[in-house]
Amino acid sequence: MQTVTTVAVLRRQISLWKSQGERIVLVPTMGNLHAGHLALVEHARTCGSKVVCSIFVNTLQFDREEDLAAYPRTPREDLSALQHARADLVFMPEHEEVYSERHHVHTNLPEHPLHQQLCGQFRPGFFDGIVAVVARLFHMTDPDVAVFGEKDYQQLVIIKQLVRNLGLEIRIEQVPTQREDDGLAFSSRNAYLDDSQRALAPRLYAELVNMGQQVEAGERSYARLERQAADRLKQAGFHPEYVSIRDADTLEEARRGTDFIAILAAAWLGKARLIDNVLVRIS
Ligand code: AMP
Repeated sequence: MQTVTTVAVLRRQISLWKSQGERIVLVPTMGNLHAGHLALVEHARTCGSKVVCSIFVNTLQFDREEDLAAYPRTPREDLSALQHARADLVFMPEHEEVYSERHHVHTNLPEHPLHQQLCGQFRPGFFDGIVAVVARLFHMTDPDVAVFGEKDYQQLVIIKQLVRNLGLEIRIEQVPTQREDDGLAFSSRNAYLDDSQRALAPRLYAELVNMGQQVEAGERSYARLERQAADRLKQAGFHPEYVSIRDADTLEEARRGTDFIAILAAAWLGKARLIDNVLVRIS
């Protein structure tokens, strides 16, 4: 496994691989790798012949409420986990390397209203930061396939839109959310939970599953379901930002006839901002 820190070396290696007919699969991460990330790498191995994993804590997607400096960084453990998962190359650039003017990508797209909704409503500029870094990583890596987790479902939908809008020839692959035995989605931010918060945290997923079951059973009063779930989370000790039932393809408000829905939530528990979702197909 190669470890690369500059775009020049990354490009040279990718060009060489491409000239040899290899298919490049990109797995972007912010490091502090857990079983969720490793499931992405494992899936990536089935999508092409060379797996490139990036580890880059993207300054642009942090806001004041989360201290960028406090974000967990574990490069040594990450490299050994990726070696074990048989990644071919790890790209670990510094901020200046990614955001150098040389690598600026003019996406020139009108901003999509989805950027301001759900997580975007509570974290202004967050999705612009995501699009900025993902567009650069796509440009630098020129992958055939890129793999993302369903855990960050709004991000996944926005990236699919980006690829469509820019006409990029990159296939986006998605991997289901990986969870602890008690249902809590793996996340680097779970490290911010103390013991009692950790014990409570799986309740978020449990509420979403419960909503999904009610929808599957025929309940269509979505606003009421959202309100009730948010109230229950509040009573349990969470500070929910939103609980929302959406069309899973577009993330527009779900209507009565919508047959593929995403139930999404973000809630603070102590210092951790947890997000989760469940996807439900209505037959
Ligand atoms: P992050 O390092 O948090 O930026 O996440 C990098 C990638 O891993 C994103 O595509 C996430 O959606 C994905 N990911 C994070 N947590 C999980 C999880 N629990 N299950 C599946 N994918 C995940």
